[in-house]
Amino acid sequence: MSRGGSRLLVLGYHNVDSTWRWPATPSGGPRNFARQMAWLARSANVVPLDAALADLAAGRPLPPRSVAITFDDGYRDNLVHAVPVLRRHGLPATVFLVPGFLSHKVHAWWERLSWALRTTAAPSVEFEDAVLPLGADGDHARALGVIEASLKRDDLATRHDRLERLVDALEPPGELHPGDLYMDWDEARQLVCAGISIGSHTMSHAILARETAADQQQDLRECRESLQRELAVEVRSLAYPNGQKGDYDDVTIDAARASGHEFAVTTRGRVTESGTPPFETSRWIVSPEKPAARLAAGCLRSLLAAR
Ligand SMILES: [Zn+2]
Repeated sequence: MSRGGSRLLVLGYHNVDSTWRWPATPSGGPRNFARQMAWLARSANVVPLDAALADLAAGRPLPPRSVAITFDDGYRDNLVHAVPVLRRHGLPATVFLVPGFLSHKVHAWWERLSWALRTTAAPSVEFEDAVLPLGADGDHARALGVIEASLKRDDLATRHDRLERLVDALEPPGELHPGDLYMDWDEARQLVCAGISIGSHTMSHAILARETAADQQQDLRECRESLQRELAVEVRSLAYPNGQKGDYDDVTIDAARASGHEFAVTTRGRVTESGTPPFETSRWIVSPEKPAARLAAGCLRSLLAAR
């Protein structure tokens, strides 16, 4: 039986095209993203995230099969590839931005790590008393998994220190610039002009619960103020970096509210309903690689499931 009226499925994208961390395959990337959006335009009611969350919080009904589209981090491919497709279908979307990435002063650590691992000539990398091989098929993904899991447990400063030591040891050829993959402020303004809504994603992509209470409060206040000032928009929602249970805590939720946010999205769960706490909105993380038919099946399962 349809539960339309009280259910919202929030989709969470990151990149749309190939990146060091998330390489596209011939059947994925922007062309597959376009197929995914075509299905959503035909079969779902794509609603603006903030308005839909406000409706849910107030007990107002949503259209049946309501889906909200979001993107995290501010990859340039969102502007180049996603926006034209969204506009063609008239689909609203929200992009959660990181001022440090937009200023091109902070590296997205997962991309820098992947770049160093993929381009190094080193046959292995030493990490935490282990030697992780890099030469054979699959080695890169295994090493990345081990290193990422460890770095995600650190606070931001420690994570970036350890990352730079790894990059130094790997000696990748050339240099990676943050602007190679991420939008700048002018490009973010183009997003706004194209009708995209903007949300906070922290100043430098800290996993908030790893930081002190004071740092969390300052970060979320500065992030929202900076996005509102530079982009001349109202920022109502926040996406927690990494977004799993334990990546945000009660201090985070208080800091999010105190800095003026009304909603926050996680990377947990699937469907948001009227009883879902507004600072723990569920979100289904989706890859541009996922076949459109599987996206469709997952959406329908989530939106039409009987309780
Ligand atoms: Zn992120």
